[in-house]
Amino acid sequence: MAAEVIRNGGLVAFPTETVYGLGASALSSKAAEKIFAAKGRPSDNPLIIHLADPGDATRYAITSPAYDKLSRFMPGPLTVILPKRDIIPSSVTGGLDTVAVRVPSHPIACALIRSAGVPIAAPSANRSGKPSCTTVEHVIQEMDGRVDVILDGGESDVGLESTILLPFGDHSVKLLRPGAITVEMLEAEGFTVILDKAVTERLADGEIPLAPGMKYRHYAPEAQVILLDGDHEAVLSYMQNRGDDCGVALIIYEEDAEKLCGKRLKVIGKRGDSLTYAHRLFAVLRELDADSDVKVIYAPLPAKDNLGLALYNRLMKAAGYSVKTV
Ligand code: AMP
Ligand code: MG
Repeated sequence: MAAEVIRNGGLVAFPTETVYGLGASALSSKAAEKIFAAKGRPSDNPLIIHLADPGDATRYAITSPAYDKLSRFMPGPLTVILPKRDIIPSSVTGGLDTVAVRVPSHPIACALIRSAGVPIAAPSANRSGKPSCTTVEHVIQEMDGRVDVILDGGESDVGLESTILLPFGDHSVKLLRPGAITVEMLEAEGFTVILDKAVTERLADGEIPLAPGMKYRHYAPEAQVILLDGDHEAVLSYMQNRGDDCGVALIIYEEDAEKLCGKRLKVIGKRGDSLTYAHRLFAVLRELDADSDVKVIYAPLPAKDNLGLALYNRLMKAAGYSVKTV
């Protein structure tokens, strides 16, 4: 039934291993336009197309030896930018002559793409500018009444959107958005990885990133997020001092819960456990947002290695680059 909705040009929100997606046929410009309308997404922000098999990319894009090599991470949380073929309407790619290709590993996403028989264009299933949805309850809050079907796949495994790469040459990639396929994993496969400036820095007004979506305020809850940069003891003592201030909530590591007892807390997993931090981050931001008393959220700034780089990138955007050195 959901596959039929896609084939008929409708919208289906569906689970993937990264975050929930908002899908429509990638071969129909009308269907793609519905996605932009449902999300309130600017039309220059292109969509990722989701395929059942890495080999299907040749039908929609011009592949390369670098793509073939990267496809060893597929199915999985990786998106590769390739020159597009004409069959993909330009409304899907925001007018660009490239297309973003991904092969999700979530069984529901795979089954949906296979039975639809068309590639599925799908951005994250949230209203534009808000944190992505990692539970079906959050998708319902955001998208009920705006889509034809919502499929329930429980909690998203990774919790952060896919890694986006732009290959150049046979062994080099530019990292446009960090995710669960990390720089370290790509380097271990022999790739040279260059970080796009938009991954770690705020762009100047008018500066255009290679992934157009990276220029928009993103992942942002209503409350002001402030990231605390300092060693563990300094962050803890700042939280102890400021945690009782009016409207303050704290995102903390499990080990610190006792020392911060009595304050408004969200536990994000054990210190050093980036997998749990990633898995919980967007849900925690949304849970805090649901409490209208929360005006300021303090969170520890993660280190930039491995999955930490993706956490750093999302948190910096959620915080509007607001960092307090402690
Ligand atoms: P989302 O759909 O929320 O996962 O965001 C998709 C991201 O992929 C956005 O940041 C887009 O700008 C980026 N993207 C999609 N297609 C392309 C493309 N052809 N070239 C560069 N970035 C792209
Ligand atoms: Mg998104």
